[in-house]
Formats: sequence, C-alpha cells, structure tokens
Amino acid sequence: MNTPHFSEMEIQQYAVDPAISLTTMRSHLDSCAQCQARVREYQQLFVSLRELPKSVFAADFSTRVMQELPQVSSKSPAGRVYVYGISFVSVTAFLVCLYQFRKYLIRFFSGILPITMYLILIMALLILIFQGLEMFRRYQKQMQLLN
Ligand SMILES: [Zn+2]
Repeated sequence: MNTPHFSEMEIQQYAVDPAISLTTMRSHLDSCAQCQARVREYQQLFVSLRELPKSVFAADFSTRVMQELPQVSSKSPAGRVYVYGISFVSVTAFLVCLYQFRKYLIRFFSGILPITMYLILIMALLILIFQGLEMFRRYQKQMQLLN
C-alpha cells in the first residue's frame, strides 16, 4: 500500500491493456479503490469511443473546400476595369522604362557574348521550369493530405 497512485499515463495504459502492467502496479490496484475507479472510467471512455460512429468525410474533400471558399467576383464590371487598368498601367510603365533606357540596355547586351547570353537564358528557363514543377508537386502533395 506504500506505492503511490498511478499517473494518468499508467492508468490509461492499464485501461487499454492490463497485461502490460507490472506486478507492483497490479498489487497497488488490488488494494486502491481510487485507482480502480479511474481505470474503470477510462475503460468505459475507451469503449464508448470505440462505439462512436466513424466520421465520414466526403471522398473529394478538395472540391468541397473550393466550394466553401468565397468566390472572387471577376464577373463584375468594376473588378474587370480594375484588373485591366492595373495591367495596362504596369505594362505601359515597363515599356516606358525600356524606351528610356534603350541605349544602356543595347550597350549592356552587346557587351555580352552570344553564347553567354544563351547560357543565361537557358539557366533562367531551367530554374523557372524546376520551380514550377516543385510548386505543382507541393500542391499535389497538399491535396493528397486533404483527401
Ligand atoms: Zn491508487
């Protein structure tokens, strides 16, 4: 009777599988009504948890999530004007910059060997392709986790 009461972890382990308990634990449990009551409570809890109906998720979880997301109103005329206006302003600003700095750009690119230029372009394309593939793979993995 000198052994201390079971910890929560020991009580739960005993409630799940009494066979794994030590002999000192068993002797304490035989004499301690408090620990017996706690073991019974956990056993009842585990039984009722097992009897709960399994929660059923939709087979295609991603489409349900996408339906719940708020729709971006791209159909509204004000939204379209806003998107096209920003696109037009940014493209125009880019073209104006190209025109303003054309002398510097021509001098910059004429100083580079063509083979170096192709290597830079190929490397940039490869980086873009691998980044896109990585992003797509990550998206697919997250969708698999959701489903
Ligand atoms: Zn006890």
